[in-house]
Amino acid sequence: MTVRDTPAAPVFTDEVKRQFMEEALAESRRALPGCQPNPPVGCVIVRGTTVVASGFTGEPGAPHAEAAALRALGPDAHPHELAMFVTLEPCAFVGRTPSCAWALVHSGIRTVFVGTLDPDTRNNGAGIAIMRNAGITVTVGIDEERVLDFIAPYLGHPPRA
Ligand SMILES: [Zn+2]
Repeated sequence: MTVRDTPAAPVFTDEVKRQFMEEALAESRRALPGCQPNPPVGCVIVRGTTVVASGFTGEPGAPHAEAAALRALGPDAHPHELAMFVTLEPCAFVGRTPSCAWALVHSGIRTVFVGTLDPDTRNNGAGIAIMRNAGITVTVGIDEERVLDFIAPYLGHPPRA
């Protein structure tokens, strides 16, 4: 790559963004019941219009959705061409597993779409900040109403009316 080359950041229409978030949401349904007490999260990694990897929250201590998808993806020579769609804000904190926000930073993926923010006080925007500070373009609120319909009961705050 020369300095004249600009990495081709993925561009999506609103409709395509919703479609990929629906696929992430479908993944997240597979996380139950094993993931509890962690919230059921799903994600897909896409190149162009193709899903190249996906993941959902495993049992406590097992990889979160994002880490599972990155593991399924394996090393990728062109991570800047990829985008991740994930239903919940990637975690900022190190709990039983490493931080997913940092895993995304290290993956080289530079485009991330998030369904909704994680109200967990350890996260609550901190995961978004880690990624943005590292130069990742993060968009929050994709298909948020449908994502919340499913995940809100597991986030420790009442579902929106
Ligand atoms: Zn995580």
